Amino acid sequence: MYPFDYHRAGNVADTLTLRASLADARFLAGGMSLLPMMKLRFASTPNIIDLRDCEELRGIEASYEVVRIGAMTRHVDVAASADVQAAIPALAKLAAGIGDPMVRARGTMGGSIANFDPAACYPAACLALGATIQTTGGDIEADEFFIGVFETALKDGELVTGAEFPIPDAAAYAKFRHPASRFALVGVFVARFGELVRVAVTGASRSGAFRWAAAEDALTESFSIRSLEGLKMDHSEMNGDIHGDNEYRAHLVEVMTRRAVLETLESAPAA
Ligand SMILES: Cc1cc2nc3c(=O)[nH]c(=O)nc-3n(C[C@H](O)[C@H](O)[C@H](O)COP(=O)(O)OP(=O)(O)OC[C@H]3O[C@@H](n4cnc5c(N)ncnc54)[C@H](O)[C@@H]3O)c2cc1C
Repeated sequence: MYPFDYHRAGNVADTLTLRASLADARFLAGGMSLLPMMKLRFASTPNIIDLRDCEELRGIEASYEVVRIGAMTRHVDVAASADVQAAIPALAKLAAGIGDPMVRARGTMGGSIANFDPAACYPAACLALGATIQTTGGDIEADEFFIGVFETALKDGELVTGAEFPIPDAAAYAKFRHPASRFALVGVFVARFGELVRVAVTGASRSGAFRWAAAEDALTESFSIRSLEGLKMDHSEMNGDIHGDNEYRAHLVEVMTRRAVLETLESAPAA
């Protein structure tokens, strides 16, 4: 790890003032992605600004239409939240399936979406649910927020403060886990809002999580497993590595989509 200076402020306003006074700095949330990358020297920064004292970034609120999750809310808290379990059980399940107990006890929702690891779970939920990402610069729709691998619409010094997840009629997340890291080799989040269906895939593509338009169209036409018959994911766009080549990942996308649709139907049959 290269040397760095450690800073910390008591609230968001002071954190932004501190950030503005430093030429180069990175925010620290749970440290579950940033610190390993720094230890391996894949990332370095002269200044770390710890967000741990920004209490206003923590918490979960549910209304009739949306669930809002503060950026510093840990995965374990999302998984255990009665509000999330009642409103969007698929989101609670997603959080419960992230990494291992230590990752869930330290990693945060905001850190996950700001980092935009191509195999992270939350970006799929954000895209499929049509989440609004709240930042110190304003609101950004999920479709506009995720740009490319480890690249988001966040500007230098901009902080994610939370995300609002619209409550669907039914949803499910099917993940084929990497057996060691538990990251998604492929994860598919399906959400149904009335007849409209959104499908987002993570882990599979070289450019990070994406929406699968052909599956959305087929499922919006008729929400059933049969609608997916014959639907193929283009493997030339898929990622390939020692854990699975691109054809394998394309196949997994098709299988995980069917599983997610089945689970969605079991949780709330389509009208
Ligand atoms: C062994 C292991 C297994 C894992 N398995 C999974 C998995 O199955 N699924 C999954 O989705 N993830 C997985 N993760 C990643 C985990 O979810 C991380 O917690 C998450 O990616 C980053 O969250 P963090 O709070 O630790 O962020 P940090 O590591 O602190 O920060 C990550 C990046 O985001 C920036 N950042 C953090 N918070 C903010 C903010 N509020 N505003 C702006 N920028 C910010 C930081 O500057 C940094 O660049 C795993 C990690 C490990 C180590």
